[in-house]
Amino acid sequence: MIQLKTQEEIELIRQSSLLVGKTLAEVARHIRPGVTTLHIDGIAETFIRDHGGVPAFKGFHGFTGTLCTSVNAEVVHGIPGKYEIKDGDVVSVDCGVILNGWYGDSAYTIPVGEVKPEVLTLLRVTKESLYKGIEKVAAGNRLGDVSEAIQSHAEKHGYGVVRELVGHGIGRNLHEPPEVPNFGRRGSGPKLAEGLVIAIEPMINMGTKSVRHERDGWTITTADGKPSAHYEHTVALLGGKAEILSSFEEIEQVLKEQKIEI
Ligand code: MG
Ligand code: MG
Repeated sequence: MIQLKTQEEIELIRQSSLLVGKTLAEVARHIRPGVTTLHIDGIAETFIRDHGGVPAFKGFHGFTGTLCTSVNAEVVHGIPGKYEIKDGDVVSVDCGVILNGWYGDSAYTIPVGEVKPEVLTLLRVTKESLYKGIEKVAAGNRLGDVSEAIQSHAEKHGYGVVRELVGHGIGRNLHEPPEVPNFGRRGSGPKLAEGLVIAIEPMINMGTKSVRHERDGWTITTADGKPSAHYEHTVALLGGKAEILSSFEEIEQVLKEQKIEI
């Protein structure tokens, strides 16, 4: 059953989601060639705890990281470790926090140094597809309208839309009903109701939509080894329209200072 939230509850989810946004910005400040994904993970954990939050992913079904760090052909759920980030990498950083008992969840694919133009285009289109989906979060629409908007924008550019992993409702739990696929049919699925809070998170591959499950039990990679991108916002249906509770404002300010614009 979908748990609709009150305005007060949505404000609490906003606080959690904004802390995620600030954490992503802190990650962007420290990500550079030569640093390991584990180093970045430690920075994120300290930052979250210093701000009164708890990393939501750490310990979740035994996951060891505060972040999921997924590099290049890794789609999602990469485990922070000894991998040294290189110039030209794209690093998908997914972060969740618990603050006052409420979850926030957001992700951003960060380009490091000189990234190939065609990979930057993948990032841009994936982020655009997220906002195309968010636009469809409106009173009277159905979940399939959100899914279809994401899928059609990504596929228009010839990209593969990952089927195995989906967005989700969020609140007192990291994952709540409904599932939010990044593919679907317009007019299908549950009607979107006031107080709905969902994490929308397109995972878009430059090549095939097919993915592989790595033997570490977590990491998902593209089947053809081509790059993948992942952007995620926590979004509420409030006053009949979409209200983005997380924020890319701070991370994009940091990237802008580094002369990176997606
Ligand atoms: Mg996430
Ligand atoms: Mg999520």
